[in-house]
Amino acid sequence: MKTIKRDRIQFIDLATQQSLIKSDLERRLGAVLAHGKYIMGPEVVDLEKALCSFSGAKHCISCANGTDALLLSLMALGVGANDAVFVPAFTFAGTAEMIPHVNATPVFVDIDPLTFNIDIGSLQRSIEHSIKLGLNPKAIIPVDLFGLPADYENIQNIAAQFDMKIISDSAQGFGSKYKDRRSGTFGDISTTSFFPAKPLGCYGDGGAVFTEDEAWADTLRSIRVHGKGANKYDNIRLGLNSRLDTIQAAILLCKLAIFENEIDLRQRNARFYTSRLEGFIAVPTVPANRHSAWAQFTLRAPSGPLRQEICSELNRQGVPTNIYYPATLNELPVFKDYPVDPHGVPESKKAADTVFSLPSGPYIERDDIEFICDIVLSQMEAVQ
Ligand SMILES: *Cc1c(COP(=O)(O)O)cnc(C)c1O
Repeated sequence: MKTIKRDRIQFIDLATQQSLIKSDLERRLGAVLAHGKYIMGPEVVDLEKALCSFSGAKHCISCANGTDALLLSLMALGVGANDAVFVPAFTFAGTAEMIPHVNATPVFVDIDPLTFNIDIGSLQRSIEHSIKLGLNPKAIIPVDLFGLPADYENIQNIAAQFDMKIISDSAQGFGSKYKDRRSGTFGDISTTSFFPAKPLGCYGDGGAVFTEDEAWADTLRSIRVHGKGANKYDNIRLGLNSRLDTIQAAILLCKLAIFENEIDLRQRNARFYTSRLEGFIAVPTVPANRHSAWAQFTLRAPSGPLRQEICSELNRQGVPTNIYYPATLNELPVFKDYPVDPHGVPESKKAADTVFSLPSGPYIERDDIEFICDIVLSQMEAVQ
């Protein structure tokens, strides 16, 4: 049932999705306008329940955005001064940004070159390094980058060894699977974002925190509303104003209804891309027992200059591309003074220099994938 004809390829096609849920959107948004409970309305409660049953998580606490979801988590775990929090150097700035806001120290860890996820050897080295610096290793924030779950089993072993907590940044990973677990259950606390371009996105900012732990869930609910106690005017801790709008919850309920199918379509499209490109350029690696949510389909060019050439040719022919991410976090002005793996983060740097992402998502057409692959392949042939 396709109603929108595109004359150029979108990086992420949100219009086709909207055409599929239009009547449901109108019905649900109409209901919010009719009841008028714009803050913490019934749709927020319904969405949190629906996200729990989708993910298998026990508690879901929706919030204002994915960055706040990380701040809420750090606050609920009591992360503070003198604590070290370990993050990959190759991720969105939002992963690390909230750590200094709670007076803790981000420590930048290298990535595994095949999965783009946090590297276990580098994590171990960085923890030992932080102890030598006099810091207390407190938490690890693995990132399910581009939708692919991190190596949670090995991360869990290291966390246990140093009595650390895991906050899973699954902003890009909602809908992904690690063994028989779904995103939302990967860490002690897991977070996600509903920014429009994420796998499950709303029409504005939104986020959520997931946990199995009742006490943390209560603390998170309190922090979300100004550190409330028994009621909103009984403030028992410093909190935030970080609620998800009722209108955004209504939109997410419509999108969640088709999300399972969208994940299947994302898998199918990624498989198609991979089958056309494999052997000619470095395609994404998905280890056994992991299912990506395919937030992005990201390739690695043989070099920085070749990335530039391939992207220019794609753009010239009307194909949008993006670079996630052009710099490692530790080289950004805001983070340059924080500790890094003593061996450096060479794989993060290499990724920042060579990666580029292609148009993807559930609704990209097979013909468009063919067209894009033909351009990439002809560019690769030209350099052989
Ligand atoms: C998008 C994103 C965030 C932040 O989410 P917002 O909702 O935009 O605040 C954090 N971490 C990662 C890895 C992201 O991709």
